[in-house]
Amino acid sequence: MRRWLRSHDQAEQGRTDGWQSLPKPVPGHSTIDGVPVAVVAVRRNSQTGELEVVRGHHPTPEWPGTPPPRSVQRHVLPALSFIPHPRRELSIGGQRWFYSTVSNAVRCANCGKDDNGFGFVSSEVPNGDADQSALAHSTLCERCAEARARV
Ligand SMILES: [Zn+2]
Repeated sequence: MRRWLRSHDQAEQGRTDGWQSLPKPVPGHSTIDGVPVAVVAVRRNSQTGELEVVRGHHPTPEWPGTPPPRSVQRHVLPALSFIPHPRRELSIGGQRWFYSTVSNAVRCANCGKDDNGFGFVSSEVPNGDADQSALAHSTLCERCAEARARV
């Protein structure tokens, strides 16, 4: 625990090892030790494709806006095992698009940005066996998705 705190301090001072804070904590659920639990994602690692989450829901009324309390238990999970909840949904071009984690190599179909961590994925893509090229046409970064949904 002590060692973890030290590395966390370094990250906050900018000497990161691939970890970056999410602009907004993302509530959702995942599986820890085989048990489905509610978690909130607070940081992601673009090098390893992992998320740092805290268990439970927002632990304080002030949060987000302040860092989560140091006392909360943190876990590192594979990013793709995290499912945002409640699920944000947009309607774009007559299709439903769902907010979810996307692997870092997947580019936004609109602006080409990669390393997004999260994005909106078209519901037309079958889950599970979607290959990378299919995903490339069906994933939008958050900004492009929201811009298109307003059109
Ligand atoms: Zn984009």
